[in-house]
Amino acid sequence: MAIDLSCKIAEPTNQKLKYIAIEWLQERGVSIEDIARLVYEIQKCYIPGLSLEDCFCSVDRVMDKREVQNTIFTGLSLDELVEKGLIREPLLAMIRKDDGLYGIDEILALSIVNVYGSIGLTNFGYLDKVKLGKIAELNTHQNGVINTFLDDIVAALAAAAAARLAHQTRDQLENLA
Ligand code: MG
Repeated sequence: MAIDLSCKIAEPTNQKLKYIAIEWLQERGVSIEDIARLVYEIQKCYIPGLSLEDCFCSVDRVMDKREVQNTIFTGLSLDELVEKGLIREPLLAMIRKDDGLYGIDEILALSIVNVYGSIGLTNFGYLDKVKLGKIAELNTHQNGVINTFLDDIVAALAAAAAARLAHQTRDQLENLA
């Protein structure tokens, strides 16, 4: 009699999932450095001496969170399914044209933003409005590429990493006082 070993198969570790999520972002043309550059742009006037490396490390730490990894897997899968036409209408057309009234792409990205509280939310709103750097590039939707979820995920990752830095800087100042 065959023994069911399915419950014995280890789930991928958090670190493994983190690297898969980074790989998925890279396959869609987004590197951790791209996100770090956004963090630098929105935090440089608030944190004296901030370096791109600090921003890179902050994004890297945000990527440790399981809810962040899960949001990346979900959002990027939806973008890819839409590119392949594998989602039913009327949803297909809404995601394909990044319909302003759809809004679920922003809602999904909030699960990343919420990890670091309200500063993250303010940063996310700002990035969504001004569409800096990589976010503007992703928004062009060239050659049938769908980035409806990806652009919000990138903005959310940068917003969360920036909020993390803001909290960290305040903690350091308080420890010095
Ligand atoms: Mg979007």
